[in-house]
Amino acid sequence: QAKARGRSRTEVFDRDMHVQAVDRLELETALRRAVDRHEMRVAYQPQYDLRTGRLDGVEALVRWEHPERGILLPGEFLHIAEETGLIVAIGNWITSAACRATARLHDLAPDASDIVVSVNLSARQLASPRLIDDVAAIVAAADLPPGALVLELTETVLMDVDASGEALTRLHQLGVGIAVDDFGTGWSSLRYLRDFPVDILKVDRTFVAGLGQDPEDEAIVAAVIDLAHALGLKAVAEGVEDETRLARLRALGCDSAQGWLLGRPMAEADLIDLVLAQSPPPDA
Ligand code: C2E
Ligand code: MG
Ligand code: MG
Ligand code: MG
Repeated sequence: QAKARGRSRTEVFDRDMHVQAVDRLELETALRRAVDRHEMRVAYQPQYDLRTGRLDGVEALVRWEHPERGILLPGEFLHIAEETGLIVAIGNWITSAACRATARLHDLAPDASDIVVSVNLSARQLASPRLIDDVAAIVAAADLPPGALVLELTETVLMDVDASGEALTRLHQLGVGIAVDDFGTGWSSLRYLRDFPVDILKVDRTFVAGLGQDPEDEAIVAAVIDLAHALGLKAVAEGVEDETRLARLRALGCDSAQGWLLGRPMAEADLIDLVLAQSPPPDA
């Protein structure tokens, strides 16, 4: 009986594995066509300057509007895009869409012209020999000043790529900003902050979550903000979900913040409404 149960468990396991493999293959096939079929979307999450309270940036976050499965989040397909290398083409599409949307925002209202857009890059993208030329072409085609684009890289991505130092230097020469994403959750080698042309540290939301509750998280967030400032960098907090955390971040001198309290990732049309509400057009 035990043997029979064991076998059936194995069969169930095999069937699950099979379902997973088919699932993954279907997703991969669909992902190959997703850009051409106009299924990729960019959601924009607002970032606010904590001193002035003004919207000073947006983070571009990819979504996939799958014809059958509905909206998929990055966690559901990005790994496939990375493993297959499709992320290079998809990433260029995202960067281009985000730069164009930001250029449109700049045209909309005079005091929207300082809004910066952040785009996430994965290791495959940073390792691509075409990255610099692609980014240069994209900002030029969008008619966006390169300084209005920030590229976000996690510490793990920075560690992964042998040539990341040179790629970052060349991106920086273009005038593009560089942010270290999820700071403190990777390898946190401070050498990278010394050797690479970084402009922004993003305080990871796992630390922000403990503000007002956990003295260790509080100490880490304070230290990251101070480190950023000591190096002449901007500190941006992620995952701000309530007023307590927002107040703590302000008190600790954090420069900017994003999170559900301040704004969910939204479609470009909603972002435009938000910016217009903040800065009425000159003839209003
Ligand atoms: P990330 O760059 O750290 O982006 C922040 C993530 O936190 C986003 O998840 C955002 O929706 C979520 N978030 C924002 N505010 C809050 C909050 O208050 N509380 C909580 N719990 N979460 C919040 P999302 O959009 O699912 O993206 C997940 C990750 O996928 C991103 O993490 C980034 O590493 C990656 N990613 C997203 N878009 C792209 C892209 O276009 N290209 C690449 N290469 N990676 C991307
Ligand atoms: Mg990010
Ligand atoms: Mg992050
Ligand atoms: Mg994070």
